[in-house]
Amino acid sequence: MAKAVFMDRDETLNPDSGYISDPKHFTLFNWVAPELRRLKDAGFLLVVVSNQSGIGRGLIQWDALREIHLKMNQLLADASGVQIDEFAICPHKPDDECECRKPKPTLILNTALKRSIDLKQSFMIGDRKSDYEAGVAAGVKESFLIHPGDEHSFKMAVEAILKSGLS
Ligand SMILES: [Mg+2]
Ligand SMILES: [Zn+2]
Repeated sequence: MAKAVFMDRDETLNPDSGYISDPKHFTLFNWVAPELRRLKDAGFLLVVVSNQSGIGRGLIQWDALREIHLKMNQLLADASGVQIDEFAICPHKPDDECECRKPKPTLILNTALKRSIDLKQSFMIGDRKSDYEAGVAAGVKESFLIHPGDEHSFKMAVEAILKSGLS
């Protein structure tokens, strides 16, 4: 079975100005690409798990979101030759009471089924309590709550994953 690192997107991998709707405004934190390279080299699938309520609010179009994620993978490819393997997106508003918005584990569970991922060998990283809780509810080996936009805590999480993966 595969193993994966599930990751929140905004403020975990990229700065978020709020409802990014144009690829021009999307950049990655400069420490992210080399860290994702290390995870990929250790055999993890890289999965983005993101609440994008801007779609449900009519502020972001699906096509624009796809372009943003193409740009993200281009930036990663250019910087360290890695790709995000899956993007799992909740497009709903908080009051839609959908089945997929984090902290629900549905996005993680569906991706695990689709890609035959063993959650007990997998991890979650995010900057909000809802990210942390989604990881725990999905049953990953460990869920990491980092500080928004923070290089140090992101790297600490990656380090812990790489160590833990050896056991
Ligand atoms: Mg976030
Ligand atoms: Zn949803």
